Amino acid sequence: MIRIKHLSKAYGNHQVLRDINLEFEPGHVYGIVGANGAGKTTLFRSIAGIENHDGEVEYANSPLKNDLGFLDAQPIMMSKITGWEYLKLVLISRGIAEENFESQNLFDLPLGQYAETYSTGMKKKLALTGILLQANQVLILDEPFNGVDIQSNLIIIELIKKLKALNKIILISSHIFSTLSETCDQIHLLKEGVIEKSVLKKDFTALESEMKDIILGNQLKQINLR
Ligand code: ADP
Repeated sequence: MIRIKHLSKAYGNHQVLRDINLEFEPGHVYGIVGANGAGKTTLFRSIAGIENHDGEVEYANSPLKNDLGFLDAQPIMMSKITGWEYLKLVLISRGIAEENFESQNLFDLPLGQYAETYSTGMKKKLALTGILLQANQVLILDEPFNGVDIQSNLIIIELIKKLKALNKIILISSHIFSTLSETCDQIHLLKEGVIEKSVLKKDFTALESEMKDIILGNQLKQINLR
């Protein structure tokens, strides 16, 4: 289990996260949904230990970083490293000797090409393949569906379901609620750095229509359609 207690984060005078308290259990998928700028990436980076923050992140098998697969919203690849070499490197970092990547290349990536030349979506798929091959117990996926083609989106949804069945702790963020509703057990709404609402699966439909009404209600009134 991961326990987040009173997590706050500021960049200078800009308070980005305010007193976040959350718990994440194995075998569950948790969504963090919020508009761009709400603080999702900062929250994930703080949990991962990449950002300094106030408050505690407790994890049973501390340190969390040894068990964590973190998918960046926009992964950056080193220059002159092929997809194959990237996978080899991330596995060496965990002491795993594996070279048979072609059979596990579930997104059909051109592993012989330099990863730096991949599109944003391909880089994301390569980074995701890497953290899956590492067999991490905890997965934090920052906007995994964003910028990725529909077929890969479907693969990612199925992967998340399999990871849940394997008793992993899975955290996913999105700025679009509907992308999370199929896979998540619980969704936390993050607004301006505060958890505004936490909703269990049985209430997703009601929450989605409530959010749609709030967003569309105000916007559509401004246009005088004829
Ligand atoms: P989200 O992932 O929900 O789009 P972010 O966590 O990326 O939101 O950003 C939340 C806020 O924190 C934004 O206002 C953003 O400009 C600010 N922010 C993020 N990273 C930094 C940084 N390194 N320095 C200063 N401000 C930052």
